Amino acid sequence: MVGAILVLSGAGLSAESGLKTFRAEDGLWENYRVEDVATPEAFARDPALVQRFYNERRADVAVARPNPAHEALARLQQAHGESVHLVTQNIDDLLERGGARDVFHMHGEVNSALCAACGHRWPAPDVMEAGHPCPACGAPAARPDIVWFGEMPYHMDRIQAALEASDLFVALGTSGTVYPAAGFRQMAQQLGIRTMEINLDASGALFDEVREGPASTVVPEWVSEVLNG
Ligand code: NAD
Ligand code: ZN
Repeated sequence: MVGAILVLSGAGLSAESGLKTFRAEDGLWENYRVEDVATPEAFARDPALVQRFYNERRADVAVARPNPAHEALARLQQAHGESVHLVTQNIDDLLERGGARDVFHMHGEVNSALCAACGHRWPAPDVMEAGHPCPACGAPAARPDIVWFGEMPYHMDRIQAALEASDLFVALGTSGTVYPAAGFRQMAQQLGIRTMEINLDASGALFDEVREGPASTVVPEWVSEVLNG
C-alpha cells in the first residue's frame, strides 16, 4: 500500500523543459546576479530591472512545455488524491499544465501579480512595469508575486502539516541550498519519515535513497513503481 507522499521540487524538475536552473556554475541566473533581481532591496532600488527580469522569466515559461516528470507527478496525484502533496520552489506553472492541481508554490508564481500596498493578487500581464497600478486599490505598487530572498515563503503551515503526515519525503531536482526548503529532509528524518532524493547529480546530503538521473526518465520510472507496486 502506498502511504502519504510529499514531493518537494526545484529547478531541476523544469530544466528539461528548457528553463534554466538557478545555481549555474558561474553564479549567474539567466545573466543576472540574484542579489540584483531577487531581493526586496533590489526591487526598491531598481524596480524596472526587477520587472524586466521577471517579464523575461514569464516569457520563457510561456513557451516551455511540461516534460514527462511533470506529467508523471500529475498521474501520481490523480491516482492517490489527498495523500500526495506537491510542493515546489518553482515559479513556473508546468506542474499545473502537466495536469497537477493544488500545488504549493512556496516561492510564488511568475504568472501572478501582487499589490505591495493592499495584498491583492491578480493574473500578471505578459509585461509588468514598475509603478503599474493595483486594480483593487489603485496604488502604483504592483510587483511580481514572488517570494524574494529575505521574505517568508508561502503556505509554510500547510506544508509543515503535510510533511508531518507523510510516510515518504522526496526531494526532486533541488540543490538543497535555499532555506527553509533545504531543512525539509532533516525535519522529515527527525519525524521518522523515509527520505528519497531524485537528482541529475546527487546533492551529497544523507537521504535514505538516492536515484540519480534526469527527472524526465527517473520520475516516470519511480511513479510507475509506486502505482504498480
Ligand atoms: P538549483 O538551481 O539550486 O538546483 C537545481 C538542482 O536540479 C541541482 O541539484 C541539479 O543537480 C538538479 N538538476 C538539474 N537538471 C536536472 C534534471 N534534468 N533532472 C533532475 N535534476 C536536475 O534550484 P533550486 O534548488 O530549485 O533552487 C531554488 C530556487 O531557484 C528557487 O527559489 C526557485 O524559485 C528558483 N528557480 C525556479 C525556476 C523555475 O521556476 N523553473 C528556475 C530557476 C530557479
Ligand atoms: Zn492594492
